[in-house]
Amino acid sequence: MKAAVLHGVRDVRFEQINKPDIGDGEALLRVRACGICGSDLHTYREGLFLDLGTPTETGRVLGHEFAGEIEEINGEVEGLSVGHRVTTVAIGANAEYLKITKSMASFIVPLPDHVSYVEAATTEPLATSLHAVNLADVQDGETIVVMGAGIIGLGVLQCIKARSSARTIVVDLSDKRLALAEDLGADEIVNARNEDVLERVLPGTDSNENFLRGPTGTVDTVFDCVGATANFSGTTVLEQALTMVRQDGKIVVVAVFERSLEIDPNIIVRKGVHLIGSWAWLPDEFLAALDLISSAKIDRKPLISHVFSLEDAAEAYSTQDSADTAVKVMLVP
Ligand SMILES: [Zn+2]
Repeated sequence: MKAAVLHGVRDVRFEQINKPDIGDGEALLRVRACGICGSDLHTYREGLFLDLGTPTETGRVLGHEFAGEIEEINGEVEGLSVGHRVTTVAIGANAEYLKITKSMASFIVPLPDHVSYVEAATTEPLATSLHAVNLADVQDGETIVVMGAGIIGLGVLQCIKARSSARTIVVDLSDKRLALAEDLGADEIVNARNEDVLERVLPGTDSNENFLRGPTGTVDTVFDCVGATANFSGTTVLEQALTMVRQDGKIVVVAVFERSLEIDPNIIVRKGVHLIGSWAWLPDEFLAALDLISSAKIDRKPLISHVFSLEDAAEAYSTQDSADTAVKVMLVP
């Protein structure tokens, strides 16, 4: 079968590999769409999480944001028939086929007919965004800053807009992504490449102020959907978040850090910041995310910026790595 195999850092190759054998009580999924995730990019760029990929003779197959069709069942799998359109949770979907093991069979989510495979493949990252928003418990009238307008940040914006009338400010370095944020309902957008973020979010505040003198932030919740790449130097988003968050406000970190940071913990203490880490989602949130898509409360179609075939997987990965132009790159076998 066709597959995109990661051989090493920035080395994705299209290859023919063996189709998975399915044992009794297992099923074979024909993958119809698989998104490239930010975490796949950390693996692609830095080798992070490499061990999570499905091993092949020559490398690892990534891809965990997917949807497809049940092509074959060995014996009986409760609730599953050949031809069912589904999404589920597994890794190794940058390929034509994926094995549905017995343990996965308990979490196979059927797709409504009107939800396309490509849209359905964005359920997993939407669930990640929803989990972060649930942790923040966003209230009407609050001011929320979303740092980073990639698929997770835009999903955070979509979940907030679907559920509340909070005021949202979205910050990114890409005008294209920010224009999309505006289309999706962001009240304000800030391009941190051209503008002083703290000046825009906290007008009239001296951003060089020593915050040990007193808390000055005004933002109820900041979502850090950026983290820090290995080669980043300068003021990180988390440091900016600590400045802009209000006394007793929240910072939800739903990003991966390729390196450690030096921050002044006294700011967290002095401001009583609720620093919340957000990783993945709960099963109910996955179902709720698909429901938000299928009920048209959230439209994921505008977030799909590119579609590539598996043959062009190398280009797909380098495109997803280009934050200026790409939001969500899909591989369609
Ligand atoms: Zn993901």
